[in-house]
Amino acid sequence: MARIALLTLVLVLAVIGGAEVWLISAREGLDRLEDRGRADLRLASDRLVTTLVQFREVAVLAADHPYVRAVVHEESALAPEVVSGVLRRIADRAGALDILLIAPDGRVLAGPEDAPARVPMTPDLRRAAQGASGSHHLVDPETRQRLFTFAAPVHLPGGPVAGMVLLRIEADRVEAPGRGDPVPVWFRDEAGVTFVANRSELVFQTAGDPSVPGDYPPGTLRATPKLPEQRIAGYPLVQGNGSLPELGLPVAQALPVIAMTGHALIDTRSVMDTARIAALATALGVLALGAGVLAFWERRRALTVRLAAEARANAALEARVAERTAELLAANEQLQRTQAELVQAGKLSALGQMSAGISHELNQPLMAIGSYAENATLLMERGRGAEVSENLSRISDLARRMGRIIRNLRAFARQEAEPATRVGLVAVVESALEIAQMRLERAGVVIDWQRPGFPAVVMAGEVRLAQVVVNLLANAADAMSEASGKRVTIRIERAGEGRLALSLRDTGPGIREPERIFDPFYSTKEVGSAEGMGLGLSISYGLVQGFGGTLRGENPEGGGALFTVELQEAPPFEAAAPLREGEGG
Ligand code: ADP
Repeated sequence: MARIALLTLVLVLAVIGGAEVWLISAREGLDRLEDRGRADLRLASDRLVTTLVQFREVAVLAADHPYVRAVVHEESALAPEVVSGVLRRIADRAGALDILLIAPDGRVLAGPEDAPARVPMTPDLRRAAQGASGSHHLVDPETRQRLFTFAAPVHLPGGPVAGMVLLRIEADRVEAPGRGDPVPVWFRDEAGVTFVANRSELVFQTAGDPSVPGDYPPGTLRATPKLPEQRIAGYPLVQGNGSLPELGLPVAQALPVIAMTGHALIDTRSVMDTARIAALATALGVLALGAGVLAFWERRRALTVRLAAEARANAALEARVAERTAELLAANEQLQRTQAELVQAGKLSALGQMSAGISHELNQPLMAIGSYAENATLLMERGRGAEVSENLSRISDLARRMGRIIRNLRAFARQEAEPATRVGLVAVVESALEIAQMRLERAGVVIDWQRPGFPAVVMAGEVRLAQVVVNLLANAADAMSEASGKRVTIRIERAGEGRLALSLRDTGPGIREPERIFDPFYSTKEVGSAEGMGLGLSISYGLVQGFGGTLRGENPEGGGALFTVELQEAPPFEAAAPLREGEGG
């Protein structure tokens, strides 16, 4: 919408600007042209007036010639032929058609041979008869020549006019010098008739009625054609035809000396062309400028639109990122809570399992202690001291074992968040074996514990790691319940990149779905059975991960299941740090 308005504005400006420049340029050009045209006309007029005045002088001079005066005196014995000869010579010299000597009544006293006996009293002759020189123009009724005539009085001594000298020239003579002039120039007499012109078709055009010929022979005059006018920049220009300019600027000048008006029509083509070109250039300039502004405006608008779109897209993106971040944070919090809950639940479940095993474990040594004590009493009564002391040392062994079991139990049940510290793997495995011992024995599982030949120290939580191993031992025992040879091989090896691998391999049927075993509540064991909660491995996985380690379960070549705990080996021992290796064994 705005684009159309702008385009319209540019077009209007181009038109207005072009028109304005055209007008200014045309006015200035016409001003200059008019000045030049006046000068041209003045030049042509001066030429005509000068020529005519000169011929009048010639007539005056001829009137003063002694022979002429002698003839009109009638005292002279001069033959008219002599005077005619003198007049002829003067006429030839001056370039006049002829010179006649006329009596006051119009009789021809001297002149060329073919001169008439009398001449009509034209206004110039009448003026000369009264003592002044006069001039006139006319068309010779016989020869049809256009003539300028000049009459001068011949005075007698004492004053009265005794005759007149009449000098006649052809209009062609005064016209000839202007013929090649590019500017049409013409001269009208007081009757409005064009008598002299440098364009032949203009001659005898009359501003008046051609059917009223006045001094001219009938049929000589033609009406001046009415040329259409056109007003431009205050100048009434004329649309010419024929040899006239297509569009001419008319100028005129009054010539009182010869009683005529000079006219010229100046060609305005160059001025009009210049104005047109200036106008066109201006319009094109405005259009170009407008196009530039329009293009700039378009670009800016496109840019604004794009920037707005980008800003919107950015805002949308940021909003989405913020939303996703919030969701992720919430999810993460939920995950951490769930994990913590699972760990706790797993601990309770393991506690349940363990307390069953432990109570059994404690019950057995307690019963043994009871029977050893009874035996000792009997042996003491019988005075068998050596056997008594043997029984007592057995009792103390059993008590120590019970103490260890209880200590483990305490540590296990604690709501602990112990930091990862240097932990000896051998001690961890052995404490786990001790906890699981009763159960393994009952299930008839043989433990193949291959102690490493190097101090295997990792960064972990001791009690939690033991819990993981107990869990793996329990799973192995469960898996091998139907197997014929029940054996768990335990190894500790270097795994590269400063890591140690603790592996437990059993001789059971292998893992049914290795990719699912770490899922919480995934269990192939009977629902409701004490063990089958499906939490053991997922909790163990989380615990090992908490130490920066990994837990894998796979089915190795040669059968059975292989579980591997990989942990970062502890950095070299520093003297100040407490040694935990071998503790709790
Ligand atoms: P649960 O022991 O309560 O079933 P776990 O998370 O400890 O839960 O174990 C998940 C499952 O992984 C078991 O139900 C069993 O199918 C499989 N599994 C674990 N240990 C072994 C193993 N040593 N041999 C074969 N399968 C095993």
